[in-house]
Amino acid sequence: MTVHVWDYLPEYEAEREDLLDAVDTVFRSGRLILGDAVSGFERKFAAYHGLAHCTGVDNGTNAVKLGLEALGVGPGDEVITVSNTAAPTVVAIDGAGATPVFVDVREDDFLMDTDQVAAAVTPRTRALLPVHLYGQCVDMAPLRELARRHDLVILEDCAQAHGARHHGRLAGTMGDAAAFSFYPTKVLGAYGDAGAVLTDSAETDARLRRLRYYGMAERYYVVQTPGHNSRLDEVQAEILRRKLRRLDDYVRGRRAVAARYAEELGDLAERGLVLPSTAEGNDHVHYVYVVRHPRRDEIIEGMRRYGISLNISYPWPVHTMSGFAHLSRAPGTLPVTERLAKEIFSLPMYPSLPASVQDKVVAALREVILAL
Ligand SMILES: *Cc1c(COP(=O)(O)O)cnc(C)c1O
Repeated sequence: MTVHVWDYLPEYEAEREDLLDAVDTVFRSGRLILGDAVSGFERKFAAYHGLAHCTGVDNGTNAVKLGLEALGVGPGDEVITVSNTAAPTVVAIDGAGATPVFVDVREDDFLMDTDQVAAAVTPRTRALLPVHLYGQCVDMAPLRELARRHDLVILEDCAQAHGARHHGRLAGTMGDAAAFSFYPTKVLGAYGDAGAVLTDSAETDARLRRLRYYGMAERYYVVQTPGHNSRLDEVQAEILRRKLRRLDDYVRGRRAVAARYAEELGDLAERGLVLPSTAEGNDHVHYVYVVRHPRRDEIIEGMRRYGISLNISYPWPVHTMSGFAHLSRAPGTLPVTERLAKEIFSLPMYPSLPASVQDKVVAALREVILAL
């Protein structure tokens, strides 16, 4: 049996009855598109964050894209973000017709280096798009100050940070709008594709509702272009509505797994293993458990021999991918991001990770690293 970095089956076994009941509830409701499940989840997800509005969409990529469009970002506009992210962040900026502009990340926590953002602002800059990567938040105060000074909007990419807090404030409550993914691996995961955009602005929310519904404000009549079909599915919404009640438990479970890794692996620092660090003011939710070692590839190969398949989030910085070769940054220009991509790897992390499996991972990793 191979151990993977993520596995939803233990959770499914534990929650099966509730999840199947969710499916049955929707199927028997008589309404399969934009019904009570979607509106119910939207209300609950907004309330969880203490915000006025949530619009459910079909996935996290479109949450970012529609979020930008709803905030008035489009062709000719520059959006400052990081290259050390899941490519969909950047795919979505591109999809909105805007131009991604990259800054580097910090060496210790791999998050956006906010000190570099001011120098990246040009007359065309329209938005800042911080990515709360791996489960902890970017330092928002300097971004908010820059946004105020240059009249920019802020869209938070919260796809990896459900329930994370920054100086006590939840991820998704610190900008003009926030994009979430509920891709199954995420901290709050659906059983398929799903996403949402949060905002406190009624105007932005109204635009989002039209954007996900062909550009229509009412049936059959388009009032706004571009329009999309980006609706959140009823079944996924009902599953999410139920799983949202357990979000804080999932976060606690992830923190327990992380604490155990830290305890069991801390002494390998002298063998070059760097464990995740939490930035000041952050409550980390450990979407992924990313560690660092200069001999990463040998470690991954060694772990494979123990039947443990590790992952790299992410092996290629976005700006080095051929699909983004047209963007401003050439390879070599974001040194921290590029160095990290060669040294990082992820250990198994999910709240239902059985202790016996974690033990096996820890024991194998110790052996592999000590034998290097
Ligand atoms: C997962 C993810 C996305 C994309 O979400 P999908 O639901 O897969 O479209 C965007 N940004 C980040 C940071 C992500 O981790």
